[in-house]
Amino acid sequence: LTLRDDRKSFELLQERADVVRRIFRLSTDGVGTYSIVKTLNRDGILPFGRSNGWNESYIEKIVKNRAVLGEYQPHAMIDGKRRPVGDPVQGYYPPVVTEDEFYAAQAARRARATYKGGRKGVELKNLFTHIATCAYCGGPMRMVDKGSGPKGGRYLKCSAGIKGMGCTTKGWRYDDFERSFLYLAREVDLGAVMNAEADDSAARQREERLSALIEKSTSLQLQRERFAELSADPAVGIEFIRSKLAAVGSELVKTNLETESLRAEMDAAESKPALATEDLRQLIEQHGRLAGVEAYDHRVRLAARLRSVVTKMAISTEGDGPRLRQTLAMLEQEDSDPAFADSVRRHIEDVSAKMQRLNPAFLVTFAGGVSRQATVSADDPMEYVSEAVLQPDGSARVNGESYVLFNVRKPKPPGGQ
Ligand SMILES: [Zn+2]
Repeated sequence: LTLRDDRKSFELLQERADVVRRIFRLSTDGVGTYSIVKTLNRDGILPFGRSNGWNESYIEKIVKNRAVLGEYQPHAMIDGKRRPVGDPVQGYYPPVVTEDEFYAAQAARRARATYKGGRKGVELKNLFTHIATCAYCGGPMRMVDKGSGPKGGRYLKCSAGIKGMGCTTKGWRYDDFERSFLYLAREVDLGAVMNAEADDSAARQREERLSALIEKSTSLQLQRERFAELSADPAVGIEFIRSKLAAVGSELVKTNLETESLRAEMDAAESKPALATEDLRQLIEQHGRLAGVEAYDHRVRLAARLRSVVTKMAISTEGDGPRLRQTLAMLEQEDSDPAFADSVRRHIEDVSAKMQRLNPAFLVTFAGGVSRQATVSADDPMEYVSEAVLQPDGSARVNGESYVLFNVRKPKPPGGQ
């Protein structure tokens, strides 16, 4: 960014501003530094400096540089190092991006860095965090990784079971459960109760605004810490520090208040989810075809959507297992002949297995009130032993046959006979 001494350099500035905005847009969309460099070089965009092409460190510099917000930070040589001195001057340059755009890009880059630095296989994020509950105790289900080996891999397990607090210790292989669930969710018709994708872009805007606010709040907190550190320096006037702290403090309060109200707005919007059936179906279908960072981003989106359309998910990892065990325990407590108790036990177990009562099953209720229940074959996660759909009006289809489980009473028409 240089002074506009003549018309030519002004035009150059406009061009550069466009490039800077493009870099910010790409960053916000989650494009990495390396890909941005490739894109700019491919499009033949000239770098700002004297170098032959764009490079990663230059992109980094631009995205972190507050000068794009119009700020000017005076520097001076202190102890042989170039250090910032005094306060940034706001509005020194014409701003190229807005504060929201600036912080949204920081947030996106941070999310990416977390992903890249995270452990391998993080793209297999649990889609059902905050959704899946244990059908037996109502507690949350967690994903546990049992490492490699024939019985290894990831499992969904009741958190009480994991902690040894009495609930089932039987897990459901995560990948199997996910496949079963997505297969079923793809078929669900949410159309009647869900409205329009129209709200979708508004939701996205709110999400971006929220991450920008969080980023801004973090940055303000850092500033506040820096000023607090400075107060130990006798060369800096205490009045100066005090006024700075007050300014940063009130800005922080403002930012946090806005964050709160935005969150409340998001909660209110989420209680009436705006997701068309087709939209969910597409998300699920695309999901299998992506890899790497894209797959990860997609899973994050899918998980967020599921949180807004699934109101209840109860998982029985061993079907009626716990209830049968309870029955058997009662049987043993009675003063009956041990041989007789044993034969009854064996009979019950045998019948239960034959009737697939110990198979894993799950019940999902979607926003709008449609519930689906599926019992999955023990050998094939894509095969249902039984499945049922229950509509909010009480009609149901069980294994393809229609039933009416209950009648929703319709209000009598007023004044009718
Ligand atoms: Zn449990």
